Order: sequence, then C-alpha cells, then structure tokens
Amino acid sequence: MLLMLQLSMEHIPFGRMNKFYCPLPFLHYGISTDAKFRACCESREIRTCDINKVSTLDFINSIQQKNLRDAFLSEDPTSHTVVREVCDACITKESQYKSSKRLREIKSTEQSFIRKKFLQANTALHKAGKKINNIESVHIQGFGSFCNLMCVMCGSNKSSTWAEFLKNDDVNLIDFFKGDSNKQNFFKSFLASAKHIQRITFSGGEPLIQKQILEFLDFLKENNLQPELTFTTNGTVPVKVLNRFTYFKKVSIDVSFDGLYDNLEYVRRNTKWKKWENNVKDYHTHFKNHKQWSINHFSTIHALNVKQIPIMLDWMTKNDFFNFAHRGFIHHLVMEPKCLRIKNLPDKIKNNYREVLNTVDKKHIQDILNELDLPGDSQEFLNLSKHLDKTTHDRGWRDIWPELVRN
Ligand code: SF4
Repeated sequence: MLLMLQLSMEHIPFGRMNKFYCPLPFLHYGISTDAKFRACCESREIRTCDINKVSTLDFINSIQQKNLRDAFLSEDPTSHTVVREVCDACITKESQYKSSKRLREIKSTEQSFIRKKFLQANTALHKAGKKINNIESVHIQGFGSFCNLMCVMCGSNKSSTWAEFLKNDDVNLIDFFKGDSNKQNFFKSFLASAKHIQRITFSGGEPLIQKQILEFLDFLKENNLQPELTFTTNGTVPVKVLNRFTYFKKVSIDVSFDGLYDNLEYVRRNTKWKKWENNVKDYHTHFKNHKQWSINHFSTIHALNVKQIPIMLDWMTKNDFFNFAHRGFIHHLVMEPKCLRIKNLPDKIKNNYREVLNTVDKKHIQDILNELDLPGDSQEFLNLSKHLDKTTHDRGWRDIWPELVRN
C-alpha cells in the first residue's frame, strides 16, 4: 500500500494532484512575530496557537493542520472551509495574478528529492492516522517584531519602531517568550520535530538584530543541527554579525532592496542610503569568501518605487549584485496598505510609469504591468498623501514624488 502511494506520488506532478493542492501542511510550519503558530507565512489561522502554550508537535498535529491536510488530499480543496479561510491569500493571488506562494512551493517541492521524500513519508503517516513528527522546514518570522526601521508598507505587528511610533502596546515586542523558561521549553519543543530539518527561514522584524535568534542559532549548533538558514534582512546591520554563522554550511541572505538614494530613505525610514550601500557592498565581499553561501536581493514593489525599477536594476547590474539568468528580478507587490498599491494610482501617473518601465524586459515585470492595468480606487490615491505625511514625519516626500501630490 505504502509502495503504491510512493509510486503514484512520484509520477504525479504535485501541482496536478487536484485543483488546489499544497504540500506545506505536510512539511512545514511557521511562527509569527506575535508568538503564534501558522501553516505558513501567508496563511490566516482560524484558531491561534500560542507557542508559549502549545508544543510544536501539538500544532503540527492540531485539528487545523489535519483538516488542511485532508482537504489538500481531496478532489476539491477549495470546497473545504478550512482552505478558503486559512489559504485565502493564495486563492486571491491566483485568481488575480496567476502566481502565489502555493505555486512556488509546489515548484520547489518538485525540484527537491529530499522534500519529496519528506512529503511521501508524512503523507503516509497522515493517511494512516499517525502523528507527523519530522518536518522539513520552518519559517520563523521573528522572536518578536524587534526592528530598527519603520518602512512605509510595514506596521506595528512587524516593526517595534512602528509600534513605538503609534504608541501601540498591544504587540509585545521584546519579551516574545515571556520568560526564560518558556524560551527553553520552545527550544526543546522545536527539537522534537526537527531531527532532520533541512531549512529554517527568518524574516522579521529585523532578524539580524534579535538577540534570541542569535541564541537560537547557538542552540542549533549545540544540538548538531545543520539546516540551511535563510534570512531576510533590511541590510542595515553591520556585516560582522555574519561571524555568528560560521558553523553553518549553507546560509542564504535576502537583502531587501526597495529603491535608491532619498527614495530608499523615505520608503525604509531610518535608513541612510550611503551607509546602506556600503554595508551591502561589505555583505557581497563577505559572501565571496563563502562558496556555499548565497546573497540575493528582494524588492517590495509599490507606488513609491515602481518608477525606480530601471535604475534599481542598473545599480545591481553595475555592482555585479544581480544575476538575471540565475534568479530573475525577485519581487512581490504590496497589497496593504491599499493606498500604496500601484493599481490605485491615477491613469495619468500609470501611463508615465508604464513608459519608464518600457526599458525593462517584460518577462521580469509582467505581474507589475498586470497590476498597473487593474482598475484603481481613486479614494485610495487620496489616502496616499495622508499616509506619507504620517509615516515620513515631514513633507519632504513631495519633492521626491511631485506627481503624487494631491492638488
Ligand atoms: S495554500 Fe498558500 S496559504 Fe495555504 S498553506 Fe499553502 S502556501 Fe500557505
């Protein structure tokens, strides 16, 4: 029976198993900055499970995760309420853009022998009604939302600087574990499902300034775990932090890159362009000495940087930071706050931006062009000035984006 299952899964591309299959609930879990377990970094949980109260294995084998797995093995996953609620982000993105985290995860599963083995073993356990106790990967957004920046597209749940600015005490920023014993319990609980873990992703907040993440790395080392580590960083942390990672054979860093010069300083508040640029150059130099490590850039595209895309690509090419052939232009589109969505720009501005983008190969920015073509909401454009006045503390943004000033 098990052999038959393995053979059938090996021969059916995962994306075609049914109308909306996702491998993640069989392989993976996530942790958000407010200490809650998640199916993945884009899911919306029905019931929240606090990592200080629920063990890792209990979440992996929780009713929600089991129901998700059952739904993804059924003929029509989106007919199940649990998928419609938890996976709303992927359903919406696929209907609008024909791309989603689910589709990316299917692709990377199809390309990875080890991932397929995990999937086969855990699917078999799930079908036999047994507990899953070995996961392939984890995404820890952060042990809290500690971050030194206040980016226009971010908010208090991902940035302590934002929370302080908004005087928002709802989000517990620093004391994520609420005590050392909870931290030790979580570390132990993590280990119980991570005996063969392949990959841990950290995003944030800013993971490279979070003391507890660095302690967690020491814990992995003490327990002889050697997963591939991936960090998303804002690029402001001095390169010497990487000396803490020398034990790990595979480290990959995604440096967020959202514009150049004063544009970057406004979009990622508290960043100083020249300092950031020099720091990023230091990172690239450091990575040249570690052949198994990799560094990439990742852009978040919205109304304030879409017109800079051609010069951002030039800057990366000129500095040899960019490998189109290898990864293409890695980016995603901002959906929230809605006033930053490029679809909500007035037609005249959209036309100007389309012209600016004419110099870029369409295949790298097709989703951006599609988003520009969607009908906009003029009220959201009116909200943009208010949002910028609030998030940038001064009115200097009007000199950088005069076309966005509401007359
Ligand atoms: S379908 Fe999307 S939201 Fe749901 S678990 Fe998969 S990747 Fe996450």
